[in-house]
Amino acid sequence: MFLGHYAVALAAKKVAPQTSLGTLFVAVQLVDHLWPILLLFGLEQASIEPGITVVTPLNFISYPYSHSLLAAIVYSAVFAVIYFGVSSYRRGAGVIALAVLSHWILDFLTHRPDLPIGFGDAKLGLGLWNSLEATVITEGLLFLTGIVVYLRATRSRNWKGFVGFWSLIVVLAGIYYANLFGPPPPSVLAVAIAGNAGWLFVLWAFWADRNRQFLTKEVPTN
Ligand SMILES: [Zn+2]
Repeated sequence: MFLGHYAVALAAKKVAPQTSLGTLFVAVQLVDHLWPILLLFGLEQASIEPGITVVTPLNFISYPYSHSLLAAIVYSAVFAVIYFGVSSYRRGAGVIALAVLSHWILDFLTHRPDLPIGFGDAKLGLGLWNSLEATVITEGLLFLTGIVVYLRATRSRNWKGFVGFWSLIVVLAGIYYANLFGPPPPSVLAVAIAGNAGWLFVLWAFWADRNRQFLTKEVPTN
């Protein structure tokens, strides 16, 4: 899943308005930010096998450090505690904990049964990726919902808030389209390097979000 993760971050802004969309982007994609680095260091393994699912040619051979349920729970707790320590924003910390966990839940929906529970052999996945139509409809609806919730909760302060937000949305949708209908990646190394582009979207989201303001008068503080 790709757009669906970002949809969670966009919608989460309504619940934790003082948390930047950039931080929420880190939370929902934390697991996918770690994965390319672990791939590069050879700690996790993947291969490219066109046809292994209809949607993605990636075979996730082993990735318990980034993608096990156990790891997701640990990252969720660690990120939430660090965030609370820095911001003292309890509501934001709670939302971040759930946002980090949401990655595993959405991946569970989309992946074939390759998602580890812990470091053993037990693996789960409902396999939404076996249907292109179901994947596009599910992710598209999630993304649209996230956009609508975010836009109803915030307003541009200036042109940067407008252009920054919409350019981010268009680029994310464009990358999703290219991944779905473009050729398979040339190598796992290319996947691992390109995977780090997620940090660019984080910076982009920080910038766009800074130039928008939350619309509700009474901003929840706890
Ligand atoms: Zn993932």
